[in-house]
Amino acid sequence: MTAPDLLSFASAIAAGAIRVVDLTETLSPDFPTIVLPPELGQCAPFRMEEISRYDERGGFCYWNNITVGEHCGTHFDAPIHWITGRDLSDNAVDTLPAAHFVAPAAVIDCSDEAADDADFLLTIPRVEAWEAEHGQIRPGQWVLFRTDWSKRRGRAYANLLEDGAHTPGPDSDVMKWLVETRGILGFGTETIGTDAGQAHHFVPPYPAHHFLHGGGRYGLQCLTHLDLLPPTGAVVVAAPLKIKNGSGSPLRVFALVNNERTSLQTDDQP
Ligand code: MN
Repeated sequence: MTAPDLLSFASAIAAGAIRVVDLTETLSPDFPTIVLPPELGQCAPFRMEEISRYDERGGFCYWNNITVGEHCGTHFDAPIHWITGRDLSDNAVDTLPAAHFVAPAAVIDCSDEAADDADFLLTIPRVEAWEAEHGQIRPGQWVLFRTDWSKRRGRAYANLLEDGAHTPGPDSDVMKWLVETRGILGFGTETIGTDAGQAHHFVPPYPAHHFLHGGGRYGLQCLTHLDLLPPTGAVVVAAPLKIKNGSGSPLRVFALVNNERTSLQTDDQP
């Protein structure tokens, strides 16, 4: 392989030939925080307290103290987050290989199915149908599960009913298969968790967490703008905060996408 030209790459971003798509929700006290069955403990929501704002508390600056759970807002799950990944080496956010923070993505669009069924489950046949069209998912890729769930607002987002959350996710077989057969880097969702809302009833419970983190892989959740990504060809940048022995962290996630329109316009020129 010849050495890639990083300056051309940076120039292409500056010129808009490569688009940067922000996949991150704004971190604010208003963004819903995951609610789990009581025996599993709860994540503290995001809080922000003003230190000063060019006033008598500090005339030169505006700044805040923030308090945030590791699993708030758009966030990253490391293998140590789950009991199946607890004994792996380099399994916390501060010890993960930095090269894993940049990786291609396969985007599986299940927005139609999720619109009809809040409990829609991604299955092996559904991924195989996607592969028949777009090619086999390669090792080291993110699989991003597009449901358009990020377009829901208010209570419809967490979709908590009397018997718990009702949100789409992967079934147990597809998670095991994606990790063990396809060798994915991780699985990303628009919903509040990588698992379906009802996944505590699955075998094993929370199969995305079980298989991803047991296999040393990662999770991303509360993603947005997956509708702006092509099925293949996007490159995701997702680097969690370097929290000592941290199980995950809120982060800025974005994707680099070839701007088809720019290349079409170029092609159209005589
Ligand atoms: Mn999480």
